[in-house]
Amino acid sequence: MEKQNKQTFIYWDRVIIALCIFVLIIIFIVMGIKGIINAFTDDDKNDAVQAINTDTALISEGQELLICIDAGHGGEGDCGALSNDEKRFESVDDLNMALAVEKHLKELGAEVIMTRTEDKYVGLYQRPEMANDADADLFVSLHRNSAETGQGVEVWVNYDAPDDDTLLAKNILKGLDEVGISQNRGVQYGYQGYDPTAKVNYVVNEKSNMPSCLVELGFITDDEDNRLFDENLDAYAKSIAESIVKSANDLNIIEISNKAVQN
Ligand SMILES: [Zn+2]
Repeated sequence: MEKQNKQTFIYWDRVIIALCIFVLIIIFIVMGIKGIINAFTDDDKNDAVQAINTDTALISEGQELLICIDAGHGGEGDCGALSNDEKRFESVDDLNMALAVEKHLKELGAEVIMTRTEDKYVGLYQRPEMANDADADLFVSLHRNSAETGQGVEVWVNYDAPDDDTLLAKNILKGLDEVGISQNRGVQYGYQGYDPTAKVNYVVNEKSNMPSCLVELGFITDDEDNRLFDENLDAYAKSIAESIVKSANDLNIIEISNKAVQN
């Protein structure tokens, strides 16, 4: 019996050690499962983001859309218009907007060529030439306005009001208006400051072979327009990108299926 009791004591001792090991193993397993679950959850999150991107990619495989985005001005010699305190350069605003539009266009499935992606000088005639050489489908030049007084957004096309260019301009204006602008100044024809009968166009509109327009995204000389520009930069860019793709659909360059952008 004494031997039996001794054996029983050794048995419980082992059980305690085994239990400790068992608990440790359970802790490791739980931590492991938790890690795996987290990994899967992250994957799900990534999949969700991917799904949204796939959903917003309006241009399906096999269809190609090449957009030329022109950030106005650039380089030391051409900073464009200045804010009233002369601290804000149009060339910088134009570039920031152009880069944001490029990002959104690519998300929608379009290919993009940029006349500039940094603060450097590009000649006025070089800009449409780049679009023509690449055989771009549409050309959009991004600028900001300036005046002693005045606010709002306007979009310029050639003075003879080509249908395709006007459609592109109207779509862009409508989209920006929906995001929120201080004033919709409408589609303008020719060249700012000139009588339409003078038959003068912006070089980028005049020399580009494809439908084109020049967007004046608010007045850099107006505080409210600058505030709207800064607050809505990404929303404006997304809207411009969607309007460009919508226009490409309207002009039968490509076909899109997303109702949200079609309307
Ligand atoms: Zn400009």
